[in-house]
Amino acid sequence: MILIDGKKAAAELRAELKEEVAELKSKHNKVPGLTVILIGDLTPSQIYVRNKEKSANEVGLKSEVIKYADSVEEKTVLEKIQELNSDETVSGILVQLPLPKHIDKQKVIEAIDPSKDVDGFHPMNVGNLSSGYESSIPCTPLGCYLLIKKFESNLNGKKAVVVGRSNLNGKPMTQLLLKENCTVTITHSKTKDLKAECLEADIIVAAVGIPELVRGDWVKKDAIVIDVGINKTDKGIVGDVHFEEVSKNAKALTPVPGGVGPMTIACLLKNTIDCFKRSQI
Ligand code: NAP
Repeated sequence: MILIDGKKAAAELRAELKEEVAELKSKHNKVPGLTVILIGDLTPSQIYVRNKEKSANEVGLKSEVIKYADSVEEKTVLEKIQELNSDETVSGILVQLPLPKHIDKQKVIEAIDPSKDVDGFHPMNVGNLSSGYESSIPCTPLGCYLLIKKFESNLNGKKAVVVGRSNLNGKPMTQLLLKENCTVTITHSKTKDLKAECLEADIIVAAVGIPELVRGDWVKKDAIVIDVGINKTDKGIVGDVHFEEVSKNAKALTPVPGGVGPMTIACLLKNTIDCFKRSQI
């Protein structure tokens, strides 16, 4: 079994992006800018935002974090987004989720100019992705896609099973695999026989949020298995895939941690640079 090393792949991607930023700087005399809005003091969100800022600085992006208290009014956030939409130094805007209950998540997502939507959550980007047009692609599925492609470049006709149908992961993942000519099955909590579906797959992407749901005898020999899950358990952080069991069958598998996670942040930087490049055409 080959371990798909997301940490290494993310470091390689960041190195490429750093070079690209330097080239863009010499060509345009400016660098792409990422602005993150962080609302409240949830510890995981603070950690994610700190890591995003650190990685953005590492590749040479201009990065800014705007912080609001939990009690901030929705109107204040929407006005700030409008201001950032018209700020030429801002290439990408990300509002860290989850939001406090009194703020309408969809309203916030739709307020972001689709051309600066580095999370790829705006309906315009969702539609463009499903229509096969150029768009921002949600960072985690984009990271999974790049890991799969790095391991196997030709996915024509492969049978892929995506476990989970969230807007964040499962649905965009399905679109990316379809674009690569995979035959894709998307599964969810009402799927009748998940094990039987998985046993058909050349590629499994698990994005569920249930610790070690995908077992060793669910995976056929030579399958590529991508584990998106991050679950806190008594034995530490585990994925949605039973690593020990599945590693005995799969051809390749991502670890948790050190698999998809590091690629997610690297893809946010990639999306910011891509938004900048599209804005310069
Ligand atoms: P989510 O929004 O809660 O969606 C979970 C999906 O799994 C739903 O579509 C649900 O089906 C499906 N599901 C639940 N139980 C199932 C079962 N028994 N069999 C098959 N499908 C089942 O979760 P998410 O936001 O996509 O996140 C999934 C996991 O990825 C979590 O562990 C999260 O922490 C992790 N994550 C990791 C990263 C990263 O960077 N590595 C980024 C984001 C999320 P229904 O639609 O029928 O309810």
